[in-house]
Amino acid sequence: MPLLFILSSAPNSGKGTVCDRLLKDTQLVHLSTGDLLRDEIRRGSETGAAVQRLMAAGRLVGEDIVNELIVKKLQSPEVRARGAVLDGFPRTESQALWLAEYCINSKFWQVDAFVVIEVPDDVLVERAAGRRLDPETNNIYHIKYKPAPPAIASRLVIRDDDKPDRQRLRISTYRENAAVVEAAFADRVVRVNGNQPMAAVYDEFCRVVAAKVWGPGSTRGPSTVPPKMKQFLQRSKL
Ligand code: AMP
Repeated sequence: MPLLFILSSAPNSGKGTVCDRLLKDTQLVHLSTGDLLRDEIRRGSETGAAVQRLMAAGRLVGEDIVNELIVKKLQSPEVRARGAVLDGFPRTESQALWLAEYCINSKFWQVDAFVVIEVPDDVLVERAAGRRLDPETNNIYHIKYKPAPPAIASRLVIRDDDKPDRQRLRISTYRENAAVVEAAFADRVVRVNGNQPMAAVYDEFCRVVAAKVWGPGSTRGPSTVPPKMKQFLQRSKL
């Protein structure tokens, strides 16, 4: 059975960075519903046109469409061989219940870890408010964490999405759904403190995930441990 992780966190919690490192360190396939939906739009399909309208309005796309995209991936030989990290899915209670049931019925998939990266709301808002976009290169900077070269400072802009009122709305939308989504995988939940330097976040991520998946009482064998996590298993002497 391949590994299946779910990453859940509010916008700007650093999930993208954790995900990048995890994908470098392991064989897991990244399944982001946001990316899959954007692919659908690029393909210009009928579904794509409907998706584009919903995404542009900042609304959630219909569950039938999203679940179908995920099923296709979970059934593909590549994902079945390599395992996956779900990013941006499940986002609602009914998506969560659907996935839990799909896993049971498939007799192939099981959710190994539901990882919540925790960051206080005020820190999330501060991270977004300090972020600047260079409209010429699309590079992202941060006034505190990643200052731009002085020569381009005057052309930087704040994205609408990053303005404090928008950011608070995005956070509250996430929080409204997060508790019920998490409840569907209650026995697989692990929490990581996302309010620390990125390297420490990733170290903690590996430690808690490894303990959950391969710790005492686990049925998973050592051959399913991705390379980076092997170090953590050795260090934590699980
Ligand atoms: P993301 O890239 O994860 O921020 O997603 C971008 C947009 O895609 C969201 O604002 C939604 O419109 C749509 N979307 C992504 N994932 C889902 C999902 N699980 N359910 C419904 N809509 C989604």
